[in-house]
Amino acid sequence: MENETIKYERMRDDMIKRQIEARGIKDNKVIAAMRKVPRHLFVSEALMDQAYSDYPLPIGEQQTISQPYIVAEMTAALELTKNDRVLELGTGSGYQAAILSQIVYRVYSIERIHTLLIRARKIFDKLQYHNIVIKYADGTSGWEEESPFDAIIVTAGAPDIPQFLINQLSPNGRMVIPVGDEHVQSLVRIYKDEKGIIHRTNLGGCRFVKLIGEHGWKR
Ligand code: SAM
Repeated sequence: MENETIKYERMRDDMIKRQIEARGIKDNKVIAAMRKVPRHLFVSEALMDQAYSDYPLPIGEQQTISQPYIVAEMTAALELTKNDRVLELGTGSGYQAAILSQIVYRVYSIERIHTLLIRARKIFDKLQYHNIVIKYADGTSGWEEESPFDAIIVTAGAPDIPQFLINQLSPNGRMVIPVGDEHVQSLVRIYKDEKGIIHRTNLGGCRFVKLIGEHGWKR
């Protein structure tokens, strides 16, 4: 058991050196979170030894856990601080929410596939990540009752940016969302300034499964 723990710690260190730091991620909070969270527990037993590899992995239900670098890039782009409240669309394995939970005050995460949500909840409980609140729903309308959010992260590809999400960002709020067609998207960063004016930056190409829902893809 101890050997296993050490083995995965080494794999995490290696992942951070080769995939995260080597590609220019400098945010110490993101790096510390990725060094700490046991990513292998968010995949099936058969895939544990691949959990720290440089690619996404299947998590069932035709969904994926994102490549470590994309998790780091998206998290860093949110420029998080410890009092932030963050909304995530697409809990999936729960790994991205777990990373966020190490950095911010509270994470709100929505997932439309019930079995994935239940599995993620079990891992959060096991790891005692108590600042993650989850909801089974179509997240494309956001989470009105808990809004506004300091940051929003969408971990599935959308045809457009749902206006509901922009409305639920607080002044000075940041959002990252993959936008494009069903095969390839651009990772878009939105910054809503103090006056509510929206600033949009393109962070580069990416490839995500579809954001399916009322204000996303219909199927
Ligand atoms: N963040 C996840 C992780 O760390 O494993 C990866 C997410 S996976 C790439 C995309 C997830 O978005 C899937 O689990 C999918 O079911 C979910 N999803 C797609 N459309 C959604 C919607 N409208 N509301 C909530 N979740 C959605």
